[in-house]
Amino acid sequence: MNTSSNTAAAELIIQNKSTRVLVGGSPSYRCDYCGQVISERMRYSGVTIRDSAGNITEHFFCEEECMISQYPDI
Ligand SMILES: [Zn+2]
Repeated sequence: MNTSSNTAAAELIIQNKSTRVLVGGSPSYRCDYCGQVISERMRYSGVTIRDSAGNITEHFFCEEECMISQYPDI
């Protein structure tokens, strides 16, 4: 296993993670990892992350595998 790509500059804190279903009228998201468009009625994973500066960002993934690939510690 190659795990030598962990040279992240900022410390990231996972604030929240949840599985959601995209409903009609929502903006469409793209999977943060593979780039697939998350379309209506699709289940997707949302992660809220706080960096060391206190900035909150939300990231969306088409499936749990993509989320784990992006954030192995989740
Ligand atoms: Zn994906």
